[in-house]
Amino acid sequence: MPNAIQMAAYLWASPYTIIGIAIGLILGGRFQRVDGVIEIHGPRIAWLLRRMIVPAQALTFGHVVFGQNQAALASTRLHERVHVRQYERWGPLFVPMYLLFSAILFLRGRDGYRENPFEIEAYDAEESE
Ligand SMILES: [Zn+2]
Repeated sequence: MPNAIQMAAYLWASPYTIIGIAIGLILGGRFQRVDGVIEIHGPRIAWLLRRMIVPAQALTFGHVVFGQNQAALASTRLHERVHVRQYERWGPLFVPMYLLFSAILFLRGRDGYRENPFEIEAYDAEESE
């Protein structure tokens, strides 16, 4: 049973979690629950992830993590869990803040993905494993 703080974190991130679940259902993904996070994978999800501006093995939406397949979900779990924690901290502000950082970096001729502070934190967690 989650405590009050965990419940608040789920609630705060829930707008994205709900969108994630809806996308997962529409795309006919397979759902699995790992450490309080819903992981969704499947061929249509893989197709979409490969065609994003920055092609990805996995992508986090609140407490939902999309992966190309189960292996991709496993290998990106540490990284994507940092993004889950970021959604818990920033709630509805997470995506606007992420895109704002990316836009500012891009406009300054920098890498809007790898130099994004949210990504730096996630890659740091991977490397310190
Ligand atoms: Zn990331």
